[in-house]
Amino acid sequence: MRGVLQNSEPMRRHTSWRVGGPADQCYTPADLADLSVFLRNLPAGEPITFVGLGSNLLVRDGGIRGTVVFTHAALAGLELVEREGRKEIFVETGVASPKVSRFAATHDYEGGEFLTGVPGTIGGALAMNAGCYGSETWDIVTQVLTIDRVGQLRERRHDDYSIAYRSVVPRFEGDEFFVGAWLYLQPGDGERSRRKIKSLLHKRIASQPLQIPNAGSVFRNPPGDYAARLIEQCGLKGVRCGTAMVSTKHANFIVNSGDASAADIESLIDHVHATVLEKCGIDLHREVRIIGEVAR
Ligand SMILES: Cc1cc2nc3c(=O)[nH]c(=O)nc-3n(C[C@H](O)[C@H](O)[C@H](O)COP(=O)(O)OP(=O)(O)OC[C@H]3O[C@@H](n4cnc5c(N)ncnc54)[C@H](O)[C@@H]3O)c2cc1C
Repeated sequence: MRGVLQNSEPMRRHTSWRVGGPADQCYTPADLADLSVFLRNLPAGEPITFVGLGSNLLVRDGGIRGTVVFTHAALAGLELVEREGRKEIFVETGVASPKVSRFAATHDYEGGEFLTGVPGTIGGALAMNAGCYGSETWDIVTQVLTIDRVGQLRERRHDDYSIAYRSVVPRFEGDEFFVGAWLYLQPGDGERSRRKIKSLLHKRIASQPLQIPNAGSVFRNPPGDYAARLIEQCGLKGVRCGTAMVSTKHANFIVNSGDASAADIESLIDHVHATVLEKCGIDLHREVRIIGEVAR
């Protein structure tokens, strides 16, 4: 194996909320072939968690049992390829989504600008069907490359998954993780795409608390409404649990304004959920994923 193996690695170093206890072991592969060898040599039944940039993850203070695979910068391929008589972008899943939107613009493709606003990896974007400003990741996916628990690679089609708003459910049995994707974008005007990217970034800076650790929107928007509007209407902006706080800039963000624990953040999430349910009768569903064990 040519990658880097770490034991008892604190997950707070790998999540945008800057919280999370230790993972038993973490592996950063050298490349895809190396990842395949690593997975093949893991004991059967070993719990495996893939982590990108940790920008949608709350890892509990007790950490993660089993093996975490870090993809960011490890699975780093990004190129234009010819497929079925047209150009597509092939991207490995450790590449940051904003990099893909810039790459597309540089090569005069349009439609990938929204990825600028999603500060995770393409792997995380595929797992979450991440999106914004009316576009979603799977809108531009033609096929994905997956790896299973024993390192076997497979090409999967769009209809191998059931895709919905922030939801991607495989229609097949067994664990497979994303290692690559083929994206189709319309040929267009790179200069116009760059202008759109710039304007989306300005919108983000104006509306999101980007200077303070956070994990983006905590809850999905309910049909026909906005979670942020409901949370604000309940008077929850600025409410705290320890140093975890409902952002005063964007009510659907929770920020770690100091040394919050994952337990503080989770308690605040539960409080916001219960308050919106009680006052508005709306059962908000979480967008952020909570994993790992409670500290003993
Ligand atoms: C400031 C800010 C703004 C944000 N804005 C948006 C937004 O506009 N729209 C939006 O959709 N999201 C947004 N997010 C959330 C987040 O950036 C996205 O969900 C992103 O796609 C997560 O990518 P990641 O690499 O950080 O995934 P992680 O947080 O590392 O992982 C998220 C989930 O995906 C799984 N996963 C990761 N990689 C793989 C893989 N290779 N194979 C299988 N499973 C995998 C993980 O196990 C986990 O369950 C925002 C976050 C922040 C901090």
